[in-house]
Amino acid sequence: MVVNMAENFIDHSYDVVVVGAGGAGLRAALGLAEAGLKTACISKLFPTRSHTVAAQGGISASLGNMGKDDWRWHMYDTVKGSDWLGDQDAIEFMVRHASEAVIELEHYGMPFSRTKEGKIYQRAFGGMTTEFGEGPPALRTCAAADRTGHAMLHTLYQQSLKHKVEFFVEYFAIDLLMNDGECVGVVAQCMEDGTFHRFAAKTIILATGGYGRIYFSCTSAHSCTGDGGGMVVRAGLPLQDTEFVQFHPTGIYGAGCLITEGVRGEGGYLTNSEGERFMERYAPSAKDLASRDVVSRAMTLEIREGRGVGKNKDHIYLHINHLDPEIIHQRLPGISETAKIFAGVDVTKQPIPVLPTCHYNMGGIPANYYGEVLRSGDDTVSGLMAVGEAACVSVHGANRLGSNSLLDLVVFGKVAAEHCIKSLSQNNKQIPKLHANDGVQSVQKINQLLDNQGEYHTADLRLEMQRIMQTDVSVFRDEKTLKTGKGLIQAVWQKFEKINISDKGMIWNTDLIETLEFENLLIQATATVDAALNRQESRGAHAREDYAERDDKNWMKHTIITIDEKGGTDISYRPVKDQPMSNDIQSIPPKKRVY
Ligand SMILES: Cc1cc2nc3c(=O)[nH]c(=O)nc-3n(C[C@H](O)[C@H](O)[C@H](O)COP(=O)(O)OP(=O)(O)OC[C@H]3O[C@@H](n4cnc5c(N)ncnc54)[C@H](O)[C@@H]3O)c2cc1C
Repeated sequence: MVVNMAENFIDHSYDVVVVGAGGAGLRAALGLAEAGLKTACISKLFPTRSHTVAAQGGISASLGNMGKDDWRWHMYDTVKGSDWLGDQDAIEFMVRHASEAVIELEHYGMPFSRTKEGKIYQRAFGGMTTEFGEGPPALRTCAAADRTGHAMLHTLYQQSLKHKVEFFVEYFAIDLLMNDGECVGVVAQCMEDGTFHRFAAKTIILATGGYGRIYFSCTSAHSCTGDGGGMVVRAGLPLQDTEFVQFHPTGIYGAGCLITEGVRGEGGYLTNSEGERFMERYAPSAKDLASRDVVSRAMTLEIREGRGVGKNKDHIYLHINHLDPEIIHQRLPGISETAKIFAGVDVTKQPIPVLPTCHYNMGGIPANYYGEVLRSGDDTVSGLMAVGEAACVSVHGANRLGSNSLLDLVVFGKVAAEHCIKSLSQNNKQIPKLHANDGVQSVQKINQLLDNQGEYHTADLRLEMQRIMQTDVSVFRDEKTLKTGKGLIQAVWQKFEKINISDKGMIWNTDLIETLEFENLLIQATATVDAALNRQESRGAHAREDYAERDDKNWMKHTIITIDEKGGTDISYRPVKDQPMSNDIQSIPPKKRVY
């Protein structure tokens, strides 16, 4: 379809517009629609193709169906997992609401796997323990085989349809509409016919997911391009903690597809070229179920020291061939198929070749635990909320524990809807009136991109950026690699000004969309490398070889970063909230993080 260059907008008005139809967006949208608010959900993908569909291992909640558990232990594990960068008030909120959130999903019809007694099945996951880290691994991660995200997303989509959320599918949100510091709407393009649409709303909720695609090798879908973060930055608002990128220990070597941590939760383990179960040396108690950053670093060190497997000694083996094939078939059917297709391996007989792969973004749009977007300190942006992986609440701090993200989506998706309903009715807010020139700038930018007769193509520049990030801002970093990375990313910004998407004679709207996504990726890559260069310590997923220790005195604080239209950055910091929200529990003081 040829892009429509007209500047005529089609206008819409809603009480609330949710951008994104992954787990977070759908949970928020259905809560709003259920309460009778006129709710639209805009998505560049068909809802059930959102990346949430790919989540495998499960969703955490201290239900205690298969052993003793307690939300306080879950809280301890999450604070420790975050390497004390997570805000303890938000973490308390999330884990205290976990069990009711999972039971609500069950009541919505989510087909969880079951124990013999018919309860929701729960498996072990990295960093999830009992007795405040002193007891055995917790069985806390609720699973629907190894297709939990699929089950959850379909359930939430069906509920959204039931409650009459109005979907705008394959609409690409371009920019927020801001008026005097307040968010009044969003401008989007219909990808099918190229028309431009303006949505005026009392509140916009961004639920646009992560930005894994800034890296060459990642487990995320091609659509994970950080568009919400890009929109926020163009509106002059900051991002938070962008240096913290999670590398999952077990991406399939060469392909990047995920092999869930649930595999190790079910008894799988890693070996090096000597056949050694090396995690026993790095994490004597948790071993293969240590937190993800710990396992990824251990694997990288083994490879560096010459104990990698394969012809080039550049990866590691993951074994489940010792497990009963019946258990594999029942609990891990998806990964058996993935390993067969992408690594040519029969998991019942051979190990799977794996490598740490970019998986999750702890950083994002700063938000409080109601989902309100923060401008600075506790000052919120009127009319704008953010939930899910796009947001940084911050419950994951410097490192997310596996199965805590699906939980984050439903807990904060729900509370964002509730808070929005309450505050809109209290303030009796009306749908804002848009001005004639609202959104015109975004269309002009697109027209200019289409007219550009430069020398660079989007796919080439994107690959250049992805390779820079993979080489210079990886599992380990230091000042030298980060300075190199920063310089090279700046050079990509200069090339972006000379981008050419129209020299093939015919313009396809996917060329334009990919260029808009690339601009958002470039913003996120810049925020990642600059924030990483500034933080002179190692914490969670941010491992500096030149500052190997965590430095609580100087660095127990969140990064706040703004980016100008040329890629220049400005960095400040805000303190971590180290106190829980309730008086009945105590703050968890920092200590050395060993597993
Ligand atoms: C392979 C894989 C496995 C995982 N497994 C687990 C697991 O077992 N447990 C766990 O807790 N976590 C897991 N995670 C992490 C978790 O799945 C994600 O963090 C989470 O699903 C993100 O959900 P979301 O709703 O924030 O965004 P997404 O599900 O990514 O959805 C984003 C939505 O935003 C829309 N969108 C984006 N940009 C625009 C735009 N410009 N205009 C319009 N719409 C837009 C998209 O169409 C989409 O609907 C996994 C992640 C991956 C990649």
